[in-house]
Amino acid sequence: MPNILNADLHSHSVVSDGTLTPEELAARAHANGVELWALTDHDEIGGQHRALAAAKALGMRYLTGVEISVTFAGQTVHIVGLGFDADNAQLAQGLRKTRGGRDVRAQEMADQLAKVGIHGAYEGALKYVGNPELISRTHFARFLVETEVCKDTPEVFRKYLTEGKPGYVEHRWAGLGDAVHWITEAGGIAVVAHPGRYKFNSTAEYALFTEFKTHGGQGVEVVTGSHTPAEYIEYADLAKELGLCASRGSDFHSPTESRIDLGQLPFLPGQLTPVWEVLESRIQ
Ligand code: AMP
Ligand code: MN
Ligand code: MN
Ligand code: MN
Repeated sequence: MPNILNADLHSHSVVSDGTLTPEELAARAHANGVELWALTDHDEIGGQHRALAAAKALGMRYLTGVEISVTFAGQTVHIVGLGFDADNAQLAQGLRKTRGGRDVRAQEMADQLAKVGIHGAYEGALKYVGNPELISRTHFARFLVETEVCKDTPEVFRKYLTEGKPGYVEHRWAGLGDAVHWITEAGGIAVVAHPGRYKFNSTAEYALFTEFKTHGGQGVEVVTGSHTPAEYIEYADLAKELGLCASRGSDFHSPTESRIDLGQLPFLPGQLTPVWEVLESRIQ
């Protein structure tokens, strides 16, 4: 399949921190001209069968997807998995373990927010949660916007939910090697999500990609809703240099919060090997 394909291989539903159901997302992707779609909820594959069924009903091609939270060199890194067997037991078990710490972390976040005068944040965030095992910072952000503490979610993250801010709680996620192995051993391909978002210096970024490849990681997101056009070029060059295949995905979460809608990004630059070429046999 060609580079010029409207593939959207990064999106979130109510099964993690999106606001649409898998069926609503499928319909929106299809209406926007998406030809190949993947639902990639955080640390959770509970929406995969619904997403596949909805895509098939619309005649849209589908790849299974997930976005795993990983701790690498003291930072959170996201690894997208594509084209795996959604019934793989080891992957399901690894994701369950990764989700495990979220509830305690959320209660600690609420305790910290209470100390700066924001009360009831845990219960407030829970109102937005579609999956009790998946309370995330995004749900807190929605509560702080609802209660007019902040005007929008980027402001919440800036003022409260990022390192050094009063609602931020240090957390240990999955190991990089574990996440890559869970995905590849389930028959999928591991992809470094939105590398332009991490605060690594070039040495640490190089270490991330080197270690990722050593574990069997094969892809990198080049065109994503989190990158600037300059970063499309930067990470296209990196993909070529390191021999990684390239992915494209909006990272769509919500019609009112996301800057980029499903299927609306530029196509992948030429001379890259798209992930969907490598995953041809896994497309459903
Ligand atoms: P968590 O997995 O609970 O740490 O939450 C991470 C999620 O928060 C990401 O997947 C995004 O959806 C959201 N997020 C992170 N940083 C920002 C930001 N600066 N602005 C808006 N949303 C963000
Ligand atoms: Mn998210
Ligand atoms: Mn992410
Ligand atoms: Mn995402």
